[in-house]
Amino acid sequence: MPDSIDRRDFLLRAAGIGSALGLVAGGVALVRGGDAAHAGMAAHGAAARGASAAGGDALASGASATGASATGATATGAAGSALAGPPIRGQVIKRGASGFAQAAHVYNERFDSVLPSLVARPLDTADVRTAVNWGVAHNVPLRARSGGHSYAGYSTLSGGMVLDLRHLRGIAINTHAGTATIGAGSQLIDVYAALAARGLTIPAGSCPSVGIAGHALGGGMGLAGRKFGLTADNIVSAKIVTADGRLLTASAHQNPDLYWALRGGGGGNFGVVTSFTFRTHRVPSTVAWFVLRWPASRAADALAAWQAWAPHARPALTSIFHLNGGGSEPAQVTGQYFGPSRDLPGLLASLTATGPTTVHTGDLGYLAAQLFWAGCSSIPFAACHTTGTRPGGTLPRESFQAKSDYVAKPLPAAARNALVQAAQTRAHIPGSGAILFDSYGGAINQVAPAATAFVHRKVLFCIQYLSYNGGANWLGSTHAAMRPYVTGGAYFNYTDPGLQNWQSAYYGSNYQRLLRVRRAVDPHHYFNFPQAIGR
Ligand SMILES: Cc1cc2nc3c(=O)[nH]c(=O)nc-3n(C[C@H](O)[C@H](O)[C@H](O)COP(=O)(O)OP(=O)(O)OC[C@H]3O[C@@H](n4cnc5c(N)ncnc54)[C@H](O)[C@@H]3O)c2cc1C
Repeated sequence: MPDSIDRRDFLLRAAGIGSALGLVAGGVALVRGGDAAHAGMAAHGAAARGASAAGGDALASGASATGASATGATATGAAGSALAGPPIRGQVIKRGASGFAQAAHVYNERFDSVLPSLVARPLDTADVRTAVNWGVAHNVPLRARSGGHSYAGYSTLSGGMVLDLRHLRGIAINTHAGTATIGAGSQLIDVYAALAARGLTIPAGSCPSVGIAGHALGGGMGLAGRKFGLTADNIVSAKIVTADGRLLTASAHQNPDLYWALRGGGGGNFGVVTSFTFRTHRVPSTVAWFVLRWPASRAADALAAWQAWAPHARPALTSIFHLNGGGSEPAQVTGQYFGPSRDLPGLLASLTATGPTTVHTGDLGYLAAQLFWAGCSSIPFAACHTTGTRPGGTLPRESFQAKSDYVAKPLPAAARNALVQAAQTRAHIPGSGAILFDSYGGAINQVAPAATAFVHRKVLFCIQYLSYNGGANWLGSTHAAMRPYVTGGAYFNYTDPGLQNWQSAYYGSNYQRLLRVRRAVDPHHYFNFPQAIGR
């Protein structure tokens, strides 16, 4: 069994290397000295605890708010003390009210001092429309919040209204149509659980408490990505409340420009999405997982082997390369394969040829695999949510910042060595950090750059530089050193508020069309944030 898994929660979830590794019963092979990955290990149980695929109103189910607005609170900032807040049926929690701080805070603790005047928690689409109309009428700025995981804290603001969509989390599966309608406040682990109970999934990231809305609107990359594409690629339609208070449907047949823009254009632009209908995919009874590790001395060679292999591997296989700051085996590859682990020795041969010190593989039911990547294999399902966002949620918040790059040509030795060195350097600075590489190719690259708003379709992989509890200078210098080797693009969902040319970095040649959609749908620019389209 693996023994020294890095347990930093954010890294584990963002990187997809579950702390669960040491906790999965059976299913683990340990091979030293570069032997082939072992196959055919026991599957871990995949019970869909606490999840159900509810029919009926996909938007309202799951709602549990009392409907009572907090009273006696002092509202300050743009919402103004004279205003009662939006007349919705859901809660309105004003600054100064009991529980306000927890309601206001986003996942990233760096933004704990950024406080809105009020947090509104609509119960349904009608409430969302009421809140938007009220915000526009009273000139109160609004930020929508799904899972609150924006790296840059874009789902909160100083003064103004946060529209927290946590109660819009119903999931209605239509097996006949092969779709699922998912409320915009759903968290990924709940989506995985509800769909897995019916043998289905949508592709998405590995952090259990990321919200479906911010994730899907910005792209959505995960360990089913090379097989089924980005989360955004699987949007069949979305319901969105625009600044004029209308509820629009965006699909290939209705408001097609808006539909184009919502698939990668980024959360916070255009309006408030209340639900998405996604194409669903059938999953096998088990999927294979693998984790390989190398010491620092072999990290650059391992990266060379990974980049030559991962973007061109079978689409059924998606992997992530990790360079961790510190540890005896700082280089790691984690991945998932839609097939049996007995195939892995052949599939991983070019990696195992570089002499990893450990190779672990196994088979898991689909939900068990997602819990494993989430680092939740050993905790109750309810606990697999960020504290304060769901009853029983225990996952801690984090303080972090990040930058990202896209790579279209294999990194030369100088770049690989610089990255390995940078990761080692991070170990000597307070806090912690890592550099992660998400492999693209497969279904992601089958989509043309202009076919959706998500433009990064001709790349090999995405690099994410992550730093926790400080390390801003390290982040800046590591990112700067890679300029000669990267496309100049960046991933909107790994939001970097310090990025100067974010319009071209996030959107490339799609930016002008996004501008036109933005002007048509929100001409007065009500929906706004520091990197909003048209800003
Ligand atoms: C721990 C962690 C792990 C992650 N892992 C991955 C990963 O594996 N793969 C990946 O691709 N990304 C990953 N991400 C990045 C993630 O996809 C983005 O941060 C995403 O935007 C978060 O969505 P959210 O709804 O949780 O965030 P929020 O902060 O709620 O929203 C993000 C943005 O979208 C807007 N928004 C939210 N809801 C709506 C709505 N209903 N309508 C319109 N706009 C809305 C917000 O105003 C904000 O601008 C991870 C992030 C974290 C913190």
